[in-house]
Amino acid sequence: MDRLACYDCGETYPFGEAARCSCGEPLWFETDPDAVSWPDTGGRGAEAGAAGHDSLWRYESVLPAATPVGLAAAAGGTPLLRAPSIEPADGPRLHLKLEGTNPTGSFKDRGTAVGIGRLDGPIGTVSHGNMALSVAAHAAADGREAVILVAEDTPDSRLAMIAQHDPHLFRVRGDYGRLYEDTLERDLGVAFLNSDSPLRVAGQKTVAYEICEAFRPDAPDAIVLPVSSGGQASGVWKALRELRAAGLIEAVPRIYLAQAARCDPIARAFRRGAARVEPVTGEPTAAVSINNADPPSGNRALAAVEATDGAVASVSEDALLAETDRLAADAGISVEPSCAVATAAVRDLTESGDLGRDEDIAVILTGSGYKYGTPGAGTPSVREIDREDVPAAVRELST
Ligand SMILES: *Cc1c(COP(=O)(O)O)cnc(C)c1O
Ligand SMILES: [Zn+2]
Repeated sequence: MDRLACYDCGETYPFGEAARCSCGEPLWFETDPDAVSWPDTGGRGAEAGAAGHDSLWRYESVLPAATPVGLAAAAGGTPLLRAPSIEPADGPRLHLKLEGTNPTGSFKDRGTAVGIGRLDGPIGTVSHGNMALSVAAHAAADGREAVILVAEDTPDSRLAMIAQHDPHLFRVRGDYGRLYEDTLERDLGVAFLNSDSPLRVAGQKTVAYEICEAFRPDAPDAIVLPVSSGGQASGVWKALRELRAAGLIEAVPRIYLAQAARCDPIARAFRRGAARVEPVTGEPTAAVSINNADPPSGNRALAAVEATDGAVASVSEDALLAETDRLAADAGISVEPSCAVATAAVRDLTESGDLGRDEDIAVILTGSGYKYGTPGAGTPSVREIDREDVPAAVRELST
């Protein structure tokens, strides 16, 4: 599995030869259709050192790397569950994919695991969030040097979280947006696993393999996920194309993407009916992990939506904060506001009739909320109390 292809113009390249297509669009790995099949059940990955855990390496035959030993062996294999308490009244049925249970708490581990499995030597990334944390942790696990380039305004609390894995951490002054291209265009002696690198997209496609396998022989009617760079959306689309081409799913689930209204270049392009995403001047949002005003895989994400008859939704700041609270307080699921946009979008898309009341909708909750505090919740509701008053106060609750 060594050829990269452009989804848009069809041009192909040997792996390693080009960072992007000459047409400007990102590339992804071609997959041999004969390699696409549901794995035999069992395959619990115990050999890979992840005893009792069904990891993404279940789909090794469609990945450009071999099953590793160590932390990377534990990526993927996340739970898919119903949370009836937060489903809209009268449907649709929501199936929540808890990506926060990955080793570093987000789906980024899928792409990092495949990338580090394939690349030698030092690895790097341009990120100040989940991708930085994931690359730093997986590099530590594999005894590699990691180079993490974070933006100048990255808060110290976040740096400390990344720094615990002991990477080379650089806080970069200057145009952070341009840095992404710098690391692609220049030979720095470090393999950069950025948001839409083909290896990362290959790893991230496994989330849709897992979702569809859980529904086999059918598939969910739709998959809803938050979008920033478009890397994960690309992976989901790639998986659905592969599964459809292999005849493992009959109908392709519609792909719905959710953005925060304060920074929603892909949603704007969708509303304009455009095929190309234009950069926007975003505003700060609590959905920090999806705050990307100029998404490198934006056009491909938009193409995924068009090809599957989906849509792109913008979610107001109030709605995404309220939804973050709702998931935690009513369903026991702590997520970042960047994930809650997806279930918030489900409410709007149900109202508008895009999602049918009798449909099965898979929603990707991309990352755990335990890492970044609780920006949605405001001041915690706590009562100060003396020890001798505890029995009376507790009894009172049930009267
Ligand atoms: C990275 C990230 C996203 C966005 O994924 P893209 O591949 O950049 O579109 C969404 N949610 C969380 C929690 C993330 O870390
Ligand atoms: Zn091309």
